[in-house]
Amino acid sequence: TTAELRALDAAHHLHPFSDTKALNAEGSRVIVKADGVWLTDSDGNRYLDGMSGLWCVNVGYGREEIADAVSKQLRELPYYNTFFKTTHTPAIELAAKLAELTPPQFNRVFFTGSGSESNDTVIRLVRRYWDIKEKPEKKVIISRRNAYHGSTVGAANLGGMAPMHAQNVAIPGVVHIAQPYWWGEARQGETPDEFGLRTAQALEATIDALGEDRIAAFIAEPIQGAGGVIVPPATYWPEIARICRERDILFVSDEVICGFGRTGKWFGCETFGTHPDLLVMAKGITSGYMPLGGVMVADRVVDVLLEGGDFNHGYTYSGHPAACAAALANLAIMQREKLVERVADDIGPYLKARWSTLAEHPLVGEAPMLGMVGALELTPDKAGRRKFPEVGKVGTLARDFSFKNGLVMRAVRDRLIIAPPLVLSHGEADELVARARKTLDDSWTELKRWG
Ligand code: PLP
Repeated sequence: TTAELRALDAAHHLHPFSDTKALNAEGSRVIVKADGVWLTDSDGNRYLDGMSGLWCVNVGYGREEIADAVSKQLRELPYYNTFFKTTHTPAIELAAKLAELTPPQFNRVFFTGSGSESNDTVIRLVRRYWDIKEKPEKKVIISRRNAYHGSTVGAANLGGMAPMHAQNVAIPGVVHIAQPYWWGEARQGETPDEFGLRTAQALEATIDALGEDRIAAFIAEPIQGAGGVIVPPATYWPEIARICRERDILFVSDEVICGFGRTGKWFGCETFGTHPDLLVMAKGITSGYMPLGGVMVADRVVDVLLEGGDFNHGYTYSGHPAACAAALANLAIMQREKLVERVADDIGPYLKARWSTLAEHPLVGEAPMLGMVGALELTPDKAGRRKFPEVGKVGTLARDFSFKNGLVMRAVRDRLIIAPPLVLSHGEADELVARARKTLDDSWTELKRWG
């Protein structure tokens, strides 16, 4: 029963990113099965999964084809590694497939087990690159406030979230600059384009202030995801791309969320016209059916690394055969069903048109959406772009109403966010927006009750 499962969970499980004590008092929601875009809990309640799990189930739940590919691989060769002069067929085939799908500068991948491991790999690849080039003083990595790059010690240092830094072990040489969050951080009267340009130029100013000879790399997500789905103003990425082109630094695009169709192209860097040297992937590579990550490395970086001899880095599960088999089956589905094109030309614009109408709600400051990722900024004062005094309280209230209304949305501070599976139907998109609207109405009524 649900009560028995909750009791076991409360006794034995420490939950990630949770106040486990508070959660135990309330009891976790136990998800028992899923199909398409729908989740079912242990009491039989159904939820439209507006978050694709944790931004990963791009092809939707219940894909027998992926389960069969994993099962076949587990029977044939459940495990082997890619260390010490060995490899295996699924890793070889997936590496070649990724070279085909990623932008032309990428022809090699370093496999990992997750996004966090991928970003730790980035730190080590960047360091190695500049050491081989005999510029060991280039050690600083520039990142952005509120960025999320993972939870391992290295990746959490790259991330720009203060509560995570407070519990982490600091490593030297990571500097954070502003995020392109116009609604929350623009000056009075500053247009999105002016703000986008100013925020991008913070990169150049930081490079100049610290000295270009000390800067190793700049890392950023095309759209900041866990930071609140921050869709940058149109001027932001072209200016960043210019700076990265003109300066002697590596540019790392963290595509753990934006990769594999989320923004309407295979990768977010293609949507925004940037030219990364390293491209970080995880999540959508297998649609979350198996854990897998990777770092694509551009030819100009590979050429240097290959001159450097041993790279003393790798994971037992780098290129796990069953995970690679899941990825190959997942990517075959995406290509056969033209899911990336569907996001660009069909369901993406359809959902955006409906989602945008939520901006008219009195509680909503802005309702951005790009591809299949969007947000609702909740505010007590639309015109004044004001925030609620107690950050996160209204967001959590709305998130809980959303669950009650059978829709999974996530709250980041007082911003609700969605990233539904790319297979969402038109009818399901209508349903998603109707449930989001009901959530806003419920929250509005409750806020009025609070006075
Ligand atoms: N990078 C980004 C942009 C992410 O959103 C995440 C996870 O949400 C990660 C890295 C970390 O990935 P993982 O949880 O697979 O370690």
